[in-house]
Amino acid sequence: MHHECGLIGLYHVDQAATKTYYGLYALQHRGQEGCGIYTCDEQSFEGQKSFGMVRSVLEDKVEKLEARGARNALGHCLYVSKENHLTSNLQPMHFRHMRAEFALASNGSLLNQEQLCAELQQNGAIFQSTSICEILAYLLVQNKDKFLPALTSSLQRLVGSFCYVILRRDKLYAIRDPLGMMPLALGRLGEGWVIASENCAFDIIGAEFVRDVEPGEIIEISANGLSSTRFAERQKSAICLMEYIYFARPDSEIDGINVHLSRFRAGMQLARESFAPSDLIVGVPESATSTARGYAEECGVPFDQGLIKNKYSGRTFIESTQTRRDLAVSMKLSPIHPLVKGKRITLVDDSIVRGTTSRQIIAMMRRAGAREVHMRIASPKMISPCFYGVDTSSYDQLIGSTRSTEEICRCIGADSLAYISNEGLRRAIGRDSVCDACFSEHYPTPLFDYKNIIDAEKERRARCHTGNEKDLEKTL
Ligand code: AMP
Repeated sequence: MHHECGLIGLYHVDQAATKTYYGLYALQHRGQEGCGIYTCDEQSFEGQKSFGMVRSVLEDKVEKLEARGARNALGHCLYVSKENHLTSNLQPMHFRHMRAEFALASNGSLLNQEQLCAELQQNGAIFQSTSICEILAYLLVQNKDKFLPALTSSLQRLVGSFCYVILRRDKLYAIRDPLGMMPLALGRLGEGWVIASENCAFDIIGAEFVRDVEPGEIIEISANGLSSTRFAERQKSAICLMEYIYFARPDSEIDGINVHLSRFRAGMQLARESFAPSDLIVGVPESATSTARGYAEECGVPFDQGLIKNKYSGRTFIESTQTRRDLAVSMKLSPIHPLVKGKRITLVDDSIVRGTTSRQIIAMMRRAGAREVHMRIASPKMISPCFYGVDTSSYDQLIGSTRSTEEICRCIGADSLAYISNEGLRRAIGRDSVCDACFSEHYPTPLFDYKNIIDAEKERRARCHTGNEKDLEKTL
C-alpha cells in the first residue's frame, strides 16, 4: 500500500497528547483521510483514531487522552488511496505481544510487501490491514532477540521508502529508510524530545529543530537520553523530489534545504529555461505559490493571486472518478476575473499527473477573459509510476507516460506548455541525491511486487513500435 503520511512522536513532554494534536495539525497537509493519537504511561496505552481531519477527529478527544497525564505520545495523519480506505488502516496501531507492547505509526511503502506478507502468513501471521505497520510488527515479534536487535534485523528485511515511529512504555524510536526517501526530523522540547515528519510541526509546540534523522538510522530515546544505531550502511541518499516540489510545507527544512526557497529557485530556473511573454504570473495555490513568485522575480513580470483556493475544499487528486475529480477542481479553485481579463497569463503549477487540474484551470482562465494561457510546470514530465508513496502507481494514470509535450499542451488547452528540466530542478533544489523515478524511470531500489507493471509497460511499448496503434490508445 502507498502512503505519504504525517508522523509525530513525543517523549518526556508535559501535555504530550495536546502537543501531539497541535503537531498533527501542522502536518495535516501530509494526510487528510484519517488521524489518531496514542499515549502511554507505565501502566497502559490509550488511543483515539478515526477517518477525518485532525481537528474534527481529535479536538474533543485530547482532553480525555490527557486525563492520565501521559508524557509520551504518538500521532499520525493518513493519506491513503480509495482502495485502501479501511478502518483497519488507521494509525497509530497498537500491538500487544508477550515479547513487546508498542504503538506504531508509519509513512511510506514497501516494495517487497507481498513477499513478506506471504512469508509471515506461513509463520502464522493474520493480517487485518494493508499497512506496512503490521509487516514490521510481525517481523519484530517473530524475532526472538531483544527489542533493538530484533528491530534492526526486521528493518533489514524491508525494501522501499519508509519512516516509522515506535512508542513503547519507556522508549521512543525513530527510523528512516536506508535511502532517506521521506523526511523525518528530530527536535528538542525542554527536557524531552520530538520526532516529526517535517520540522514545521516544531514551531507550533515550541520545540527546537536538532537535526534530520539519518537514512538507515534508528534513534532510540529513553530515560538515559538519545542513542543512535544503524540498520543499513551509509549510502547516497534518494529523497523523493516530490517532497520539495509538492508534499512538504514551505516552512519545513528537509535535509538542510528550506522547501519554500527551493520552490522559489525552481521557479526562477523554470523562467530561465522556458519564459513565455506574458502580462501576469499566476501560481496554482498553494504548493506552486512559492514557485510562481520565483518565476515572476526572474522574468520581471508581475505576480498576482489570479486564482483563489477555497479553504474548505478537500483533496481533488484521490477522488475515485474523473467526473468527481473535475468537479473537485472547480470547487477548489476559481479565478479573480478582473485580474485575468484581457491578459496573457502564465500559470505555474508543481506537476501534471493526469492533467485534470491544468485542463480545468486553463478553461477557467479563458472563461474569465484571459487572452493567452501558458502553462509552466515546476517538475519534469511525469512519465512513470511511483511505488514509494505518491499515489500514482500505474502508467495509465499519467498523461505524460504516452503523450509528447505538444500533445499534452493540446489536451489541456494551453497556448504553450513547458516543464522544468530534471537537471535544472536538481540544481534549483540544491541536491543531486534524489529519487526522480517518476520523471526518469530509474528506480533506486529493486522493484519486487511492482516489476510486472514495468515489464508489462515495456512489452506494450514494444508492441506499439511494431505498429499496434490500439495499444497506444489504451492509456490515452
Ligand atoms: P492532475 O490534476 O491529475 O494533473 O494532478 C496534478 C495536481 O495534483 C497538481 O496541481 C498537484 O498540486 C497535485 N498533486 C500532484 N501530486 C499529487 C499527489 N501525489 N497527491 C495529491 N495531489 C498531487
